Amino acid sequence: MVSIYVLLIVFLIAFLVAASVGRPWFHRRFRRPELLRRTSQIVAGTLLLTNVACFVLDAPEFWRTADLTATLGGFAALGVAMTALRTGGMPARQPRRVLAIGAHPDDLELACGGTLAKFVDSGHEVRGLVMSDGKQGGDALERSLDAQRGAAFMGLTGMTHHNFTDTELNRHGQEMVGVIEAAIVRYNPDIILTHSNHDQHQDHQAVHQATLRAARQHHSILCYESPSATREFNPSVFVDIDDYVDAKVQAVKMHSDQLAKPYMTPERVRGIASFRGGQARRRVAEAYEPVRLLSTEMESL
Ligand SMILES: [Zn+2]
Repeated sequence: MVSIYVLLIVFLIAFLVAASVGRPWFHRRFRRPELLRRTSQIVAGTLLLTNVACFVLDAPEFWRTADLTATLGGFAALGVAMTALRTGGMPARQPRRVLAIGAHPDDLELACGGTLAKFVDSGHEVRGLVMSDGKQGGDALERSLDAQRGAAFMGLTGMTHHNFTDTELNRHGQEMVGVIEAAIVRYNPDIILTHSNHDQHQDHQAVHQATLRAARQHHSILCYESPSATREFNPSVFVDIDDYVDAKVQAVKMHSDQLAKPYMTPERVRGIASFRGGQARRRVAEAYEPVRLLSTEMESL
């Protein structure tokens, strides 16, 4: 009996530690991950205390049996909840290659983080391409590292960074066209995501223009919505991100250098997703302006 308690106590401590420090893992794989994480901590913590009490106080047989039953029942219930709350888009009938192009390290997470995470879970191959290190808006090295962490969290196959001058990307138009053309040749994407022209940030407009020039022969280009989108942004393609709002919020949080900005708050991220969801007659969505979109590629959305 003693060895069972020692094993249970060690297991419960390990579970508590995993539920406490494994935040990115939790946020990426579950709907309502914060609720699940807190529930796991409360269940494991309570059971840990009762198991320690039974062990230390050498409790009567009845209480030991009740405690063991409660431990097994608690973890069975958690297992059912975890299975029911797992994210994971429907497996795609035909996996696609997606190339997402952004001006700054946090642009992809803010504009299409839910879509990219959902695409990855559905079996699509997603790659990111970022044009500047964003050093005018924060620490360049930190921002680049944050972008790598954000890409890893969303599950991107690859993320390429370029160091064209932040806030002056319009001076690098031809160079950006070159790197986007090279990425298109290398990855042969089925869908390209990029900034909208209806965006007040000059770098976002520059990346939009460079993408359209580089992808002039491509059949499917969608323009996503950045926080700096203007009122003219008028989407007609929507991606349901019902299971992926928490993943998007967490992906945005990966950009620790930028969290003081008002558009980085979970409230703003959820608010935009809810607003676009209303337009799409869904609960939450991310919105896109198509430059053009082949009907066969629409099926993968
Ligand atoms: Zn940006």
